[in-house]
Amino acid sequence: MRVRIARELCVGAGQCERSAPEVFAQDDSGLSRALVQAPGAEQWPAVHEAADLCPVGAVLVAAGRAAADDRRETS
Ligand code: SF4
Repeated sequence: MRVRIARELCVGAGQCERSAPEVFAQDDSGLSRALVQAPGAEQWPAVHEAADLCPVGAVLVAAGRAAADDRRETS
């Protein structure tokens, strides 16, 4: 699993950090970023919960590498 945050979509709702605090954190701007890009399997349920709960679909989860044509700013 690979995970990223589409920061141009993030509205700082904080659901992702509450669901998976070891994987996501809000920075000084209030937007979230991924602390790790390849979380361990023990984190996968929390990451999926974060993706499900994000109100704007900014938690991007992929089984492998991100699509090469995804030009959205991520972190
Ligand atoms: S839940 Fe979505 S909108 Fe809220 S901080 Fe996380 S990525 Fe941003």
